[in-house]
Amino acid sequence: MTAPDDPRFEWIDVSDLGGPVTWMRGACRHRRPVEFRSVVDDELLAHLCLDCDEQLDVTPKPVLSPIGEP
Ligand SMILES: [Zn+2]
Repeated sequence: MTAPDDPRFEWIDVSDLGGPVTWMRGACRHRRPVEFRSVVDDELLAHLCLDCDEQLDVTPKPVLSPIGEP
């Protein structure tokens, strides 16, 4: 028996020896992150995974020096 046909997650074989084949859902692969933006200024606050509702980090952007500063 193969793992359940759900590519969103890792699948772990937790079968007992000689028992029925049992798969446990493992880590989410976060295949469908969506942007979560501020309603105030449209700033990207985070990414949300629709599959596990986990909040993912936004890749930090390099901080630019304000124009005119040394
Ligand atoms: Zn996820």
